[in-house]
Amino acid sequence: MDVSDTATLREEQERERALHRTRAEGPRPTGLCLFCGLVVTHGRRWCDAECRDEWQAWSDHARQDRKA
Ligand SMILES: [Zn+2]
Repeated sequence: MDVSDTATLREEQERERALHRTRAEGPRPTGLCLFCGLVVTHGRRWCDAECRDEWQAWSDHARQDRKA
């Protein structure tokens, strides 16, 4: 394995890690609740646990639809 192989492998791992991070955490905060669209505190993605749960259920459902 030469140096370029190592670099490619590292890029691969970085991309893999980034994918996992995205999958684990979901979308980035936009300043608006992802479920109802209300303005939320900076860094938050939902106004409360209820919105988060609803959004989670909705996105799980959407994923299942896509699979079927
Ligand atoms: Zn909300």
